Amino acid sequence: MASSLVWILSKSCRQISRPWIACQAPRRNLSTRSVPDVSSHLAPGGVSFPPLQSYSEEESMMRESVKKYAQECIAPRVSKMDECSTMDQEVIKSLFEQGLMGIEIDPEYGGTGSSFFSSILVIEELAKVDASVAVLCDIQNTLINTLFAKLGTPSQKEKYLSRLSTDMIGSFCLSEAQSGSDAFALKTRAEKHKDYFIINGSKMWISNAEQAGVFLVMANADPNAGYRGITCFIVDRDTEGFEIGKKENKLGLRASSTCPLNFDNVKVPEKNILGELGHGYKYAIGMLNEGRIGIAAQMLGLAQGCFDHTIPYTRQRVQFGKRIFDFQGMQHQIAHVATQIEAARLLTYNAARLREAGRPFIKEACMAKYYAAEVATLTTSKCIEWMGGVGFTKDYPIEKYYRDCKIGTIYEGTTNIQLSTMAKFIDKEYEH
Ligand SMILES: Cc1cc2nc3c(=O)[nH]c(=O)nc-3n(C[C@H](O)[C@H](O)[C@H](O)COP(=O)(O)OP(=O)(O)OC[C@H]3O[C@@H](n4cnc5c(N)ncnc54)[C@H](O)[C@@H]3O)c2cc1C
Repeated sequence: MASSLVWILSKSCRQISRPWIACQAPRRNLSTRSVPDVSSHLAPGGVSFPPLQSYSEEESMMRESVKKYAQECIAPRVSKMDECSTMDQEVIKSLFEQGLMGIEIDPEYGGTGSSFFSSILVIEELAKVDASVAVLCDIQNTLINTLFAKLGTPSQKEKYLSRLSTDMIGSFCLSEAQSGSDAFALKTRAEKHKDYFIINGSKMWISNAEQAGVFLVMANADPNAGYRGITCFIVDRDTEGFEIGKKENKLGLRASSTCPLNFDNVKVPEKNILGELGHGYKYAIGMLNEGRIGIAAQMLGLAQGCFDHTIPYTRQRVQFGKRIFDFQGMQHQIAHVATQIEAARLLTYNAARLREAGRPFIKEACMAKYYAAEVATLTTSKCIEWMGGVGFTKDYPIEKYYRDCKIGTIYEGTTNIQLSTMAKFIDKEYEH
């Protein structure tokens, strides 16, 4: 198998091979472990478990390939994309060509047919180089594709999954100006007519909206039923009355577009409901629970990427006749941050493995997202300090990591919301 791992890598992003595809099969049968009984924490008899940072052959190959792809195709474009607040079209094209926009989508629909854990590794690797590219890949894989794959009718899957894996970006549209953390207080309405709905309202903060071809829109089709009226609608970009507003001018993640949306009597056929009428709130909660592991991976990768840029500098920079790395005051801080990054990685991988094994993972996903965002904040701040004056300039990428990390405490549930969810689980655990 190892001999098939020869990368056919040229200067063009498009010519990088996708070696993991050759070794996929049977799908999801990647681990030699059997899945433990969901009702039990015990390992099946006689099975010994590998350390958390063990990867299947496919996972290892994806990780290595994406690392190389990110270095060769994304890294040279990062600074310009940040400066111009634009995602380079070549990067988008190459993400599709690499199979990174349909990681879990069945090959029947042109997807890569890989696993959730592979998606997490991919997001981590991309975020080491650019958090904006990572979130583009993250939302597509952990929210949009999963919603279509889990809930789509055969014709919805045929129409959208085949495009999402090859050339179409999707946006997830829940937040509104007046409903952020309190997401289910949303005001966008969907009024039923014969065999169609009319949507009116607006959305805020919608990632990737500038480039997206399809929007999964949460709108309330029965306000009398409260949040139980919330329904997920598939809205195509070119639908009449649907408008994408001017993108936000942000502190970080500048290459990732974040836009408001407006719905002015937007007519959507009934067949564009994804899943069941009135079940949108369940889908949104469910997806965000999983999506949080993706954001944890984004923050983890970002922290590691920043650390990797900084440590070589501390090993070269000389003050008082010594490498600055050699001062104990520096070493203790560096070791402390390295430990935090390692802990964030273990929390993130554990949450992803739990989700993949079909075991409860919500509390662990919240912990991973909360903690990884804290670690990214600490790491990027420390890295600037360790670099001294140059860390504060745009000559080095550290200041960008510092700006990009802040979003980890805000989207897909703020830090307070993660902590509140964890506390609910803890309270329940001590009920008896
Ligand atoms: C760059 C970016 C990209 C985004 N992408 C998307 C996207 O693609 N799709 C989408 O639907 N949304 C997206 N969002 C929206 C994001 O999920 C919300 O911003 C987030 O949920 C917080 O909502 P808010 O901004 O309204 O803050 P608020 O809810 O107003 O929160 C403000 C503060 O109050 C605190 N707070 C609120 N309620 C409580 C409580 N009950 N207990 C304790 N503290 C509380 C919060 O923790 C926070 O500190 C994005 C946001 C950004 C900035």
